[in-house]
Amino acid sequence: MTTQTLFRDDLQTRQGGVWEYISPSRLGKWLTCPLAFKLQYLEGIRQPTTPSLFLGKVVHAGLEQYYRHRHLGVTLEPADVCCRMLEAWGPTIDAENMTFDSTDAELALQRQAADLVTAYIAYAPKDEKPLAVEVATQAPLVDPLTGEDLGIPLLGVIDLIVGGQGGAVIADFKTAARSSEPLEIFHEIQLTSYAYLFRQLSERTEAGLEIRSLIKTKTPKIEFHGYPTRTDAHFRRLFSVIREYLDAVDTGRFNYRPGFHCGMCDFCTGHCREWQG
Ligand code: SF4
Repeated sequence: MTTQTLFRDDLQTRQGGVWEYISPSRLGKWLTCPLAFKLQYLEGIRQPTTPSLFLGKVVHAGLEQYYRHRHLGVTLEPADVCCRMLEAWGPTIDAENMTFDSTDAELALQRQAADLVTAYIAYAPKDEKPLAVEVATQAPLVDPLTGEDLGIPLLGVIDLIVGGQGGAVIADFKTAARSSEPLEIFHEIQLTSYAYLFRQLSERTEAGLEIRSLIKTKTPKIEFHGYPTRTDAHFRRLFSVIREYLDAVDTGRFNYRPGFHCGMCDFCTGHCREWQG
């Protein structure tokens, strides 16, 4: 079995076809709406980056800077992290083809990013030990319960792995509009995928998983939500979803799946309405 750790740049330039690899985001998109998945990943229709998505990306980049330094034993001050984040602002705008409604809107988003990162650094435990940061990795998908090799790799980026009391904890950063205890099931596909990759990479079992939420309230709030080690049932469910996904890709069946999520879908008024079934 070959497990590869990739550099983030490799991953960003890699937008392979659907038969090249599976990722948690591809699975998540397909689960939400197969038609939206087809438009994005098979027809290559790119949805514009929203301010909210852009904010998430720059905040992730700021936290990556913070933890990469922590990994080397250097603790950056919040102002230093914000400064580095703003230095990367322009290149991120270019990479994402981002446009703002006004200069004021752009400045407001810069302030919000800085406030969120500053609040996070103030909240995060100072004594936790980062074991790995932004781990881009891929591993062949072999069902841990049956040994069946699905013939395609899983590829994902784990935001952070920290050493906890019982072992390694896999953490994922989210920016969220409001505070709430995220139901574990919301993130099950992503967290179980990361646990699978971590186990393939390290040949160890994770001690737990965390969603670290940066809440975009006027005064930012930070919440950590922990989840236990993945069980056989998690992997059985993940692999059963992956098998169904592979069948859909194989047969080219991508039905629309209308629901509340359509309010956040840029295909809503155009491509989706033209779909004939
Ligand atoms: S509008 Fe809804 S049903 Fe249509 S593509 Fe988007 S998510 Fe799917």
